[in-house]
Amino acid sequence: MKDTELYTALLGLHPPWQIREVRLDLAADRVDVWIEEAGGAKWSCPECERSVPLYDHAEERQWRHLDTCHCQTYLHARLPRVQCPQHGVRQVTASWAGPGLHFTLGMESRLIDTLKECDVTGVTRLTGTSWDEAWGMVEKAVARGLARKERRLPAYLCVDEKSFAQHHRYETLVCDAERGTVEYVVEDRGQESLEQYYRQFTPEELAQVRAVALDMWDPYIAATQAYVPGAEEKIVFDKFHVLRTVQEAVDKVRRQEHRVLKARGDERLKGTKYLWLANRENVPEWRRAEFEAVKGTNLKTGRAWAIKESLRKFWTYHYGRRAADYFRRWYFWATHSRLSPVVSAAKTLQAHLRNILTYFRHRLTNATAEGLNSKIQMVKEMACGFRNRQHYKTAIYFHCGGLDLYPRPEASS
Ligand SMILES: [Zn+2]
Repeated sequence: MKDTELYTALLGLHPPWQIREVRLDLAADRVDVWIEEAGGAKWSCPECERSVPLYDHAEERQWRHLDTCHCQTYLHARLPRVQCPQHGVRQVTASWAGPGLHFTLGMESRLIDTLKECDVTGVTRLTGTSWDEAWGMVEKAVARGLARKERRLPAYLCVDEKSFAQHHRYETLVCDAERGTVEYVVEDRGQESLEQYYRQFTPEELAQVRAVALDMWDPYIAATQAYVPGAEEKIVFDKFHVLRTVQEAVDKVRRQEHRVLKARGDERLKGTKYLWLANRENVPEWRRAEFEAVKGTNLKTGRAWAIKESLRKFWTYHYGRRAADYFRRWYFWATHSRLSPVVSAAKTLQAHLRNILTYFRHRLTNATAEGLNSKIQMVKEMACGFRNRQHYKTAIYFHCGGLDLYPRPEASS
């Protein structure tokens, strides 16, 4: 097999394209391939597809393709330009590359695959591309994915906030609970942030939303009430956020008690923070004995912890009525605990009870969004904190948006 035939097969080239020359430079670990069109090739206008005559050839261009073994491989061609009576002089599109790119479609897809697996700097090292080229690929892929994305409003939404760059700045993320994708990322966590998402849809479309999982966060509640018809029955205060409210109360009790004990030289609570916050079964094996011992010493923190743990049972009920009965008993216990952070957490829950109980109708939690959150956390770590807010958003869409990111050959040739 001749080298030109080999590369015609490897590149999947079809007439009118053919390979003129293949050059291997072993010293430079490089293969260069020149592509040209066969004589007498027929052309059509890339705009209107009518048959048109050849006009001239553009300057030679170069595209990086997938490597040949260890050799970086470049394709070269002078793309023909045609003259259309309606559209004037136009350059025909190469079957191996999109317009205006320095990479072939194959290489672009490989870069996208690699970018999904590691951070941009890692990609530059693995592929010998520059940071701007690799990041440019992310931006292009996301722009393409968002342009292709069909307009749809998920039936089950999860809304969550995510801190950005550790400066008490937040992004609001709207997720599709069924598909586990981030549908929308918007700055801040105010009412306006979430309303920006809802405003893209008509009231009829918004009426189709079945449930929205939210944090007990007033601006999100207000936005959802303003835009989603029947919101009172559809808002579900997310299990994890509800539990977090009580966890925070436990932590407050622990801090207060630790201060008092420490003043007396009692260090029992030192280093125990996460033992009280974890679910009972998640306390690590090697700390269980220690935890049992401190738990058995009749501390306020131990009582707060028991109240927190018992609330978890609430979500195990099959019927809302039973769960409501359970909550009433739990509420009595919590509000008679004489632990003021626990009392006020219980009151917060009581005030939001109606939409905590909607869980038993919709069975919706932010669990998918929480899963996504750990993915987003990874995205943040990969990007060393993203100083640039737009980059952060772009990376979230790239990794979590469920978008169709890959290039496709243009129809015309
Ligand atoms: Zn035309």
